[in-house]
Amino acid sequence: MSTSAQIGVTGLAVMGRNLARNFARNGYTVAVHNRTVSRTKALVEEFGSEGDFIGAETAEEFVAALERPRRLVIMVKAGEPTDAVIQEFAPLLEPGDMIIDGGNAHFADTRRREKALREQGIHFVGMGVSGGEEGALHGPSIMPGGPKESYDSLGPMLEKISAKAKDGAPCVTHVGPDGAGHFVKMVHNGIEYADMQLIGEAYQLLRDVAGYSPAEIADVFRTWNQGRLDSYLIEITAEVLSHVDAATGKPFVDVVVDEAEQKGTGRWTVQIALDLGVPVSGIAEAVFARSLSGHAALRAASQGLAGPKPKALGKEEEAAAFADRVEQALYASKIVSYTQGFHEITAGSEEYDWDIDLGAVASIWRGGCIIRAAFLDRIRAAYDARPDLPSLLSDETFAREIAGAQDDWREVVIASVRQGVPTPGFSAALAYYDGLRADRLPAALTQGQRDFFGAHTYRRVDREGSFHTLWGGDR
Ligand code: NAP
Repeated sequence: MSTSAQIGVTGLAVMGRNLARNFARNGYTVAVHNRTVSRTKALVEEFGSEGDFIGAETAEEFVAALERPRRLVIMVKAGEPTDAVIQEFAPLLEPGDMIIDGGNAHFADTRRREKALREQGIHFVGMGVSGGEEGALHGPSIMPGGPKESYDSLGPMLEKISAKAKDGAPCVTHVGPDGAGHFVKMVHNGIEYADMQLIGEAYQLLRDVAGYSPAEIADVFRTWNQGRLDSYLIEITAEVLSHVDAATGKPFVDVVVDEAEQKGTGRWTVQIALDLGVPVSGIAEAVFARSLSGHAALRAASQGLAGPKPKALGKEEEAAAFADRVEQALYASKIVSYTQGFHEITAGSEEYDWDIDLGAVASIWRGGCIIRAAFLDRIRAAYDARPDLPSLLSDETFAREIAGAQDDWREVVIASVRQGVPTPGFSAALAYYDGLRADRLPAALTQGQRDFFGAHTYRRVDREGSFHTLWGGDR
């Protein structure tokens, strides 16, 4: 066993353990540490044969096992536990050493931690990791932020353990200073929420309006996965829908309680978008849809409310034609979700001076992460061709695709409204699209109202300056 580790991982629950194994499988000597020592021992016992691990029982032993400059990865619960671990290790480190937080930290916490540690000469890298436990083991998409010089030494290791896109490019890049990596990971998760919501709406429409069974819908998703929607989430959707519950023989999806949970990164994406003034309506609807699903009592109390009950199309050809339309609606709405997500990254990058390369972000999401998709290759190409693209919708290819999809997209939204099938994602995406392309918005009227009741003034279309009208009547 080596006595000097190139990297250390503390926090050996599913993510940390698998990330440590990934480093070891790639030939690195990995020091491993966990608050509860039994986890450290278990890792070394179970997986010691996979590579070179140094099991450390105490913080001091762990730090002593690392070669300098030290690279110490934290994979613990986000929030206070991360601060506690930093407080435990920082006094044992020296200037030039690195603390790399691979947890799902809020980017504002990362900025705070980076600033505090910089004062001690320690490089703090907030590193977004996506791909779940399988990704951590076999190759995640990695979004490190922090000081650029830390990437010079850390980057080659991350490139080795990361997923590789189909063209072989590693799914990792230096995203930008301080909180940039965790910010991009947050938006990744927000987009993931939107993708899942849109897929859910497509499923519900195929079930209620096309009248397909879960197994038939699984086949539809399999077909879609051969085309432009080719993605991990579409692939696993087909798997979930074709799964049959062993205990009852029913489709798995019919025996699961229809209340979705969330851990918070989707909510953060929306909260930060509100702060930055970025309209991420598709992501917001996805977060709200999960929230609505969880209000069981409210839903139960609303069962008697009036409205249409969906009626399935009778003819096979009609159902198939409708399914094709749903594919168009899903694809167009997906373009809008990514447009909104990339807008948020642009706004964050401007606000915090991160200089994020959007093409590089699309590139590292092509493999390893939950939203990996063939589609991201096209986003990368769009931003590589024009880094200052005002919006993904300004890209000719995407604009053309939406133009081709929009009639069906509108028909699907109309059908869902007529039949009473909720499609907040499809509808919000369409409203965003129409909002952007509208010649005139009712915001002019809003300005008039604001000036009327609050003398907030308004701007005119024909003259520079701010104006106020002396509105008549007694107020
Ligand atoms: P987790 O359940 O979030 O955290 C458990 C780990 O945190 C254990 O090692 C635990 O140590 C340690 N811990 C908790 N409080 C601590 C404290 N006060 N001091 C020291 N250690 C403490 O584990 P996880 O699911 O593997 O996730 C790790 C991180 O990766 C999280 O930030 C998570 O958000 C992020 N992440 C997870 C996924 C995923 O798919 N699960 C994907 C991307 C990112 P003990 O064993 O001693 O309790």
